[in-house]
Amino acid sequence: MVERKGSILALSGVVLFLTVAAALALAAGQVLYSRAEADFARKSEVIERSVTAEIERYRVALADVAAAASVPEKVDAAAFADLTEPLTRRRLPGAAAVNLVVAAATADVPTVQRRWRALGDPALRLRPVGAGQHFFSVLSRPLDDRPPRLGVDAAKVPEARDVLLRAQNTGQMAISRAYRLLRDSELPVAEQQLSFVLAAPVARNEPTWVVMAFRGTDFLREAIGLAAGDEADVTLSEFGTSVVTVAEWRPERVDDALPGYETTIDVPQRAWQLDIRPTVSLLPPTGVGLQVTATIIGTVLALVLAVPISVLWIARERAARQVIRATDELRADIHRREQIEHELRMREVELVGFAGVVAHDLRAPLAMVTGYVEVLRDETAGLLTEDHRVFLDRLQAGTHRMHSMLEDLLAYATADSMPLRATEVDLSGLVAEIVGELCAAPSALPPHIQVGEMPRVVGDPTLLRQIFYNLVGNAVKYTEPGAPATVEISAVQQGPSAYRVEIADRGIGIPPDQRAHVFDPFIRVAGSERFPGTGLGLAIVRRVVERHGGRIDVDGNIGGGSRFRFTLPAAPAAPTRTEGPEMAGPSALSSRGHGD
Ligand code: ADP
Repeated sequence: MVERKGSILALSGVVLFLTVAAALALAAGQVLYSRAEADFARKSEVIERSVTAEIERYRVALADVAAAASVPEKVDAAAFADLTEPLTRRRLPGAAAVNLVVAAATADVPTVQRRWRALGDPALRLRPVGAGQHFFSVLSRPLDDRPPRLGVDAAKVPEARDVLLRAQNTGQMAISRAYRLLRDSELPVAEQQLSFVLAAPVARNEPTWVVMAFRGTDFLREAIGLAAGDEADVTLSEFGTSVVTVAEWRPERVDDALPGYETTIDVPQRAWQLDIRPTVSLLPPTGVGLQVTATIIGTVLALVLAVPISVLWIARERAARQVIRATDELRADIHRREQIEHELRMREVELVGFAGVVAHDLRAPLAMVTGYVEVLRDETAGLLTEDHRVFLDRLQAGTHRMHSMLEDLLAYATADSMPLRATEVDLSGLVAEIVGELCAAPSALPPHIQVGEMPRVVGDPTLLRQIFYNLVGNAVKYTEPGAPATVEISAVQQGPSAYRVEIADRGIGIPPDQRAHVFDPFIRVAGSERFPGTGLGLAIVRRVVERHGGRIDVDGNIGGGSRFRFTLPAAPAAPTRTEGPEMAGPSALSSRGHGD
């Protein structure tokens, strides 16, 4: 059961950690995503600028050649070689060749051929295609490692013808649509690239152009290779009647997590489109990978923590079970003790009952012994020796002591078990009677007993008498010989339905550590052996007080002596007699009575 709870706790811990790990991965993903977004925007801008800058370099380079070609009287092979020489140092990516192109009507072709054989290649052969206007490359500087091609009629290639005408008509440089260069026609098809030509009109007598061709894929690779690296996928397309993909830079798998970037680049008299998209290299952590990594780490952490959590839980549960077991044992122990105490009380009740029976049954023989001792003393008054008279006195004193012990034992036994005949009692009368008896006893120093106003209470008169008889008797008895006993008896109302009675003396007193025990049976305080007594009087008093629902205690009297205090139920305001009913008390369980 405990282990199962521990497992559930551990499982909850695992789930919690996984959730936290997933949340962290998500948050980290968000941060990385925003960063990658910014990186990609920067990269796209750099790529766009690179392409624009490269095209601009082409434009400027060709414009320089066109301007230079317009100046000399005649442009021959040597002049063209000089004019175009700077291009070789410019590192123009993808550049194939730069040509001087002239236009010629079909009828003029032989004349033109003759003239350019004289200016350039003596073996030049112009090869016009169809009728109408023709466009022939008459001088050429290759910018790649392939040989020059001269005399080919560009009119047979619509893209080449269109760009030449456009440049001628506008007097401005123009770029062609993409097409496969005639120069590349001998290459295997797989190696042929879509290319462009940039045509700049040259101001001369006959329509002349400088034309530079460059291959799209090579151009794109070199123009953006450094900027794009493996983090961007770039497609170069041209706008026309339909979008034609000219070249692509495709280093790696595209990541669809980020949107791509599209831009238009102005090239001479046309527009190109650049389509840039991020690759997985730019966003490695934003994909599933990060979540998986975080989840794996979270799982491992969760499992590592689950073990101590479950161990702690199990240990805690075991400790809790031990506490519960110990508590149960303690309860059982208390219950056993209560049972034993109950049995002891029952045994005590039995013993007290037994003592009462014995005391009762011994009274008659003792009375007989006492009687015969007195008869013996009277009958033999003149016949006995002095020693015999002393023996008789001791015998008589012994019987008296035994008598009072039996009386006390009987009173102690009956105090608990005797039916309580409660009635309204006027304490002033009862106390006055007892005080009278005590003062009448023969004594060298009669006691001073001062009695305050006494209330009316409810109680058993016989038992109440035992209280006062014992307490006032002790107060008189436990006084140093040679000094008269001084006793004060008073009563005060305590609450609406009780009186507290006080009996204070100026006797030998009771040491504080003994006060709690003097109410136990047969207890006599050390030092009081010189006074006669059985140690039962205060035990009887406590029983009687408690049977009347009150409490008793003892304290030292200010100035010396003892002060006993006990409570008794007050009589109702109107004097009524409530004879008969039994009052509840601790010993009311016992039904044994000793009516004399
Ligand atoms: P006893 O028969 O010995 O008087 P009690 O039960 O009446 O028995 O008293 C128990 C003990 O308490 C006495 O032995 C005595 O030592 C002490 N005691 C009782 N009352 C007083 C008192 N008023 N002054 C001093 N000691 C007292």
